[in-house]
Amino acid sequence: MDTKNFILNIIEKDIIKNNLTKINTRFAPDPNGYLHIGHVKSILINYLIAKKYNGNFNIRIDDTNPINRNDIYINEIINNIKWLGIKYNGIEKYTSNYFNEIFKFAIILIKKKLAYVDELPISIYKKYKGNYNNLGIDSPYRNRSVKENIDYFLKMKNGFYKENHACLRAKINMKSSNIIIRDPILYRIKYKKHFKTKYNWCIYPTYDFSHCICDFLEEITYSLCTLEFQNNKILYNWILDSLDIKNKPKQYEFSRLNIEYLTLSKRKLNILVEKNIVTGWDDPRMPTISGLKNRGYTSKSIIDFCNSLGITKKNSLVKIKNLEFFIKNDLNFKSIRIMSVINPIKLYIINLKKNFFIKTPLNPNNLKNGYKLINFCNELYVEKNDFINKENFNNLIGKIFKLRYSYILKIIDIEIKKDIINKIYCIYYKNTINNLYLKNNKVNKIIHWVSCKYNFISYYIFYDYIFKNINYLKNKNILDYINNNSIIIKKGFTEKSNYIYSKNIYYQFERIGYFNIKNINNNKIIFNNIINF
Ligand code: ATP
Ligand code: MG
Repeated sequence: MDTKNFILNIIEKDIIKNNLTKINTRFAPDPNGYLHIGHVKSILINYLIAKKYNGNFNIRIDDTNPINRNDIYINEIINNIKWLGIKYNGIEKYTSNYFNEIFKFAIILIKKKLAYVDELPISIYKKYKGNYNNLGIDSPYRNRSVKENIDYFLKMKNGFYKENHACLRAKINMKSSNIIIRDPILYRIKYKKHFKTKYNWCIYPTYDFSHCICDFLEEITYSLCTLEFQNNKILYNWILDSLDIKNKPKQYEFSRLNIEYLTLSKRKLNILVEKNIVTGWDDPRMPTISGLKNRGYTSKSIIDFCNSLGITKKNSLVKIKNLEFFIKNDLNFKSIRIMSVINPIKLYIINLKKNFFIKTPLNPNNLKNGYKLINFCNELYVEKNDFINKENFNNLIGKIFKLRYSYILKIIDIEIKKDIINKIYCIYYKNTINNLYLKNNKVNKIIHWVSCKYNFISYYIFYDYIFKNINYLKNKNILDYINNNSIIIKKGFTEKSNYIYSKNIYYQFERIGYFNIKNINNNKIIFNNIINF
C-alpha cells in the first residue's frame, strides 16, 4: 500500500489536531456471497492502517438480513481472511451481537421525535419516496406522537404486523434532493429465522441504521469504505449526531478495485453461479479468494497485488496482467521445474542406443532444493508447435536444436500424415549434453521433451477469462459477454522421475507456465493451469 495516500494524510492530521491515541478500523462484509479480490483491497487498507497506528482491526459480519445463506458464506469469509494471513482483533463480531443496543437507539430516536412507524402500503411508499425528478411526499403517518410511535414500534417487535405492513423510518426531509435522506427506513419486519438470533427478532435494522451504531459501539475511529457509500455518509452522520454521539467515527471513501475481464460485484458473481456458468463461488475462474486459491494463486501473490494498488477516489480499470505478474513472481521461486509436453509428437534419435537418467534441478533458481533423475532414451515426445513450419516441412530437415538438459540434435527426416507433421527423426551429437555450441556455433533453440518410456499420461485444464471483453458495458446484461470457451482440456505427457508429485506443490512446466495438481494416481495426473508465461 502507498506509504502516503489521502486517507493516511487525513489520519496524520487528525492525530495531531485531536490528540488521537488509537486508530481502530473494521471490515464489515455482507454475508451474501464469497469474498472477492476487491474485498482484499478493502481488508488490507483497514488492516494496515490499524496496524500502523497500533489500533484494532475488527471483522464484523453484517448479518442484518436473515435471508442470506449466512452460515456457508460466513465460514468461507473467515477462512479466507485467515488464509490470507490477516490478523484481526479478538474473535469475529456480528451486527446481530448488537441487536439489543440498536433497538434501544431506535427508541431514543423515537423519543427525540426523529423516527416514526410508517404503515404506508409498499406501492404507495415507493411513490411517496419520489425519484431524481420528483421530490418526496410526507407520509400521513409522519406526525404520530412519541407515545403512538413507541406503541407501534413495540407492536412491530412483537409480531403484530405482517411483513411490509409497517416499518420504522427516520424523520429527516422528504423534500431533500438527496433521496437517501427522504425518511430512510431504520427497521423492517422479516419473519425469517436468523442463523444466530433464531426467532428472537422479527424486526431487523437496515444496513444504514446498524452500521454507524456498530462502528460507534466498537469504538471504530475510521469507517473506510468504497465510493458507492458516499451518498450514505450524510445519513451515517445524521444518525450519530441525532443520538448525541461524541467522538463519532468518520467515514471516508476510496475507489473500488476493478480489473479487466473480471467482475467484482457479488450480485454479478452470483448470476454466474446461479446460471451454472461456473461450478460455484470457488470455481477456479472466479475472482473470489476461494476461486483464486483453487486456481493456484498464493495468498502472498494476492496480498502483494493489492499492496501495489493506489488508494484514491478515482475509478480505474486495473490490467489483469498486473495481477498475473504477482503470481508468476511468487511461483518462480516456489515451484518445481518439470517438463511436460502438451501437444505431443514423437521424435526418434536414430544413432542413440543407450537409455539412461539425467540429473535436472528441482528449481534452477534455487539449486539447494536438489535434483531429480529423468529418463532419456531414443524415443521422445516433443511439442508439435516447436516443429510447425507451414510453408514447407522440408525446411525442417537439417535444422539443429538442443534438448533441454540434454544433447544437441539434427533433424534428418520427418513423416507427414494428412498434411500434419507426425514423426521426427534425428541424430544426436556426442559430448553436447552440457554444451550449447556445435562446431563453434551457438544453438539458440532449446526445446523441452519427455521420454516415451518413462512418463505420466497427463490431462491439463486450461482456463481463460470468463468474459470475452476487457470491460463489459455497465448496465448491460453480463450474460451477453460470457466467453464460452473458458475451459480447455488437453492431453499430453509429463516427465516421470524419482521425484514424487504432490497436490500441495506448484509446478513450472518449462517454457509453458505454472500448474498445480488436481488429481494424481499411478500413471495419470490431472494438472490445473494457474498461469501461462
Ligand atoms: P455488491 O458488489 O454485491 O454490492 P459488495 O462487494 O459491495 O457487494 P460488501 O460485503 O457490502 O459487498 O462489501 C464489504 C466491503 O468491501 C465494503 O466496505 C465495500 O466497500 C468493500 N468492497 C466491495 N467491493 C470492493 C471492490 N471491488 N474494491 C474495494 N473494496 C470493495
Ligand atoms: Mg456493496
